[in-house]
Amino acid sequence: MSALIELAGFTKHFAGTPVLQGVDLQVHEGEVIVILGPSGCGKSTLLRCLNGLEQGDGGTLRLAGEALTADSDWQRVRQQVGMVFQSYNLFPHMTVLDNILLGPLRVQGRPRAEAQAQAMALLERVGLAQRAHAWPRELSGGQQQRIAIVRALCMNPKVMLFDEVTAALDPEMVKEVLQVILDLAKGGMTLVIVTHEMAFARAVADRIVFMDGGRIAEQNDPERFFSSPQTARAQQFLERFSYVENLPGRKAS
Ligand code: ADP
Ligand code: MG
Repeated sequence: MSALIELAGFTKHFAGTPVLQGVDLQVHEGEVIVILGPSGCGKSTLLRCLNGLEQGDGGTLRLAGEALTADSDWQRVRQQVGMVFQSYNLFPHMTVLDNILLGPLRVQGRPRAEAQAQAMALLERVGLAQRAHAWPRELSGGQQQRIAIVRALCMNPKVMLFDEVTAALDPEMVKEVLQVILDLAKGGMTLVIVTHEMAFARAVADRIVFMDGGRIAEQNDPERFFSSPQTARAQQFLERFSYVENLPGRKAS
């Protein structure tokens, strides 16, 4: 089966500094990839290149077989590659429903009735149908992030990219957002997820991609990656997480 996303020798520099140094990655349809790695290793840059927010400067990127370059029609491509960020960026002067319908109506030129029916079905799926006419400011962070996911889904993308979408949320709201992503994974959607939620990564991923210094240092299925990481960098990375989880109490001897 050919890959939905295919990167080969993909590079990106910022002002001469290499940030992606020859990334080879294939994502197949229906696959759930979790990208892990230390801060600054290039995870966000990689996701941003996948939907044209940044352009690579070497190697190739293909989406569903089509080679993408700076000259590609990124407005069209971006409709196939949904992205959700840490900050949800809903327009404050528009209701939830109007935020969701903006892309389907203005960019895709779809009939309102059809787009609205899909928006309402998606809102139902994330448990927010009754908030369709609310203003973003009336919603919690977790609810706004679920709306941002619906807004991306309503464009009918081929793949969804998630960049640390729970990192800015209060702990009690993290679960409701991760649950939505898990539900998408179970539904067979192709997902590329950057997260620091290790238990979630292990539960949701078909494959873990571990990056370090702008390269993929190793990739493996989650059980193998978490139980026996192959590189020293991945071992160090995982040890830092288990250290926090296993901090001894003050009174432990
Ligand atoms: P991660 O998401 O893994 O933390 P990023 O992709 O955000 O890493 O950043 C990778 C490297 O590229 C970092 O050194 C960062 O400082 C640098 N970088 C990211 N965006 C820019 C930019 N717009 N201009 C210059 N340097 C950048
Ligand atoms: Mg990042």
